[in-house]
Amino acid sequence: MDKEFKFRGLREKLVKELAKKGITDTEVLAAIQKVKRHLFVDELLMDSAYEDRALPIILNQTISQPYTVAFQTQLLEVKKGLKVLEIGLGSGYQAAVLCEMGAIVFSVERLKEIALLTKEKLKILGYDVQIKIGDGTLGWQTFAPYDRILVTAASPSIPEPLLKQLNINGIMVIPVGDREIQKMYKVIKKDDNAYETKVYDEFKFVPLIGDKGWKL
Ligand code: SAH
Repeated sequence: MDKEFKFRGLREKLVKELAKKGITDTEVLAAIQKVKRHLFVDELLMDSAYEDRALPIILNQTISQPYTVAFQTQLLEVKKGLKVLEIGLGSGYQAAVLCEMGAIVFSVERLKEIALLTKEKLKILGYDVQIKIGDGTLGWQTFAPYDRILVTAASPSIPEPLLKQLNINGIMVIPVGDREIQKMYKVIKKDDNAYETKVYDEFKFVPLIGDKGWKL
């Protein structure tokens, strides 16, 4: 059977599974139906790409579990044309999902090797993502403010620079906790000094390493 055809079927199955697990945002589900996750994992793992689990990428990092990507993206309330800053580019899969939803995507990655590889891959696949190599706990001042900020690594607290770079009425989604387990936070910026925080389920991310994150 044609591989692409097989993968499309597996994606459909995955989307149904995510809907069953509580993902209701149809635009999130449509984006996951479109993005070829098998092209974001190691060739040896391609056949597992549509199982709902995290997979290893290079340098001990991971491509997040599809449910986690869907859950974070749903909380983020992405709309076409919004400026989204992602912290932790990794494989680029999450960034591709945001692109499919019409967001203007910026992403910071601290590991140069990952950033360069992923930049090349996103370009080949036609996803337009602005990428910076550096410490994402400090955000990316050049293009601030952002309508949405999505942190895809585990943070000990909410980094102050990210709050500052969030637009009024903007939303930040970030896993906060210890190195082992985190709770998903959704922060809505009401004005420069007022934030509303909602706390959701537990997840497990790789650590956010940086000035306002964990120390190496
Ligand atoms: N969004 C990714 C998942 C990335 S895993 C995906 O879709 O595949 C988390 C990533 O965050 C790793 O690549 C790690 O190197 C990166 N990271 C950790 N601390 C960081 C920091 N302070 N700034 C930017 N990236 C960071």
